[in-house]
Amino acid sequence: MAVIGIMSAMHEELAAVLAAMPDEQRVQVAGRDFWVGHWQGQSVVAVLSRIGKVAAATTATALIEHFGVREIVFTGVAGGLGPGVRVADVVVADAFLQHDLDASPIFPRHEVPLYGRSRFTTDAALTPRLADAARRALPDATLHRGLIVSGDRFVSTTAEARALQAELPDALAVEMEGAAIAQVCMDLALPFAVVRTISDRADDAAHVDFMRFVSDVAQRYSSAIVAQVLRSWPAYP
Ligand code: SAH
Repeated sequence: MAVIGIMSAMHEELAAVLAAMPDEQRVQVAGRDFWVGHWQGQSVVAVLSRIGKVAAATTATALIEHFGVREIVFTGVAGGLGPGVRVADVVVADAFLQHDLDASPIFPRHEVPLYGRSRFTTDAALTPRLADAARRALPDATLHRGLIVSGDRFVSTTAEARALQAELPDALAVEMEGAAIAQVCMDLALPFAVVRTISDRADDAAHVDFMRFVSDVAQRYSSAIVAQVLRSWPAYP
């Protein structure tokens, strides 16, 4: 049974991972292509999460239930929100929150109904290992750790970025999948860790910055980090 699940949101990032796997086999489940194989001596299942919370939750559930992965590492890009979080910085998530979830006044703003919480933490052992791997893979990049917020919106106006900063002052970055996968991994008791490189500042220039970063830099960053992650992971039997 394969062991490490690797998820990316973008084709460009997954392509870099697949290019490094010598023996991947395609298995289709839930309308998605899962790539089962090896890399750096590890058993790996790599998959495109697809974009948005529901799609990512479905992909994560299939990865766990169908392929029996024992941990999930997500690599992708995100918009920077924190004041010092710049394009090409790296953010490793300690926790996630859905910034667009609002069942108030029945539940507090951002709280996931019936979970009694708004924040879902990433794995306490896997996350520092991922941060170490990112630091080794990209020694010149500035690395941040903390809260990433997720929602079904590409945040691409300065006004919306400012509103999010005001509402969630400790949020370092914004993206569209992490909080959903974090909730699935809590439900199914699976270790989960996330590294996101900053492609844009979620502002009026976000669209242009995002496109440029994804085509120029994202693949290199994500394959360097994942290769380092796998190299530093303990070998499984
Ligand atoms: N038109 C784009 C859509 C990508 S959506 C395309 O080429 O497919 C943006 C993706 O990058 C999502 O997976 C999200 O997780 C991440 N992301 C990067 N910057 C973001 C931002 N400013 N707001 C929300 N998500 C962002």
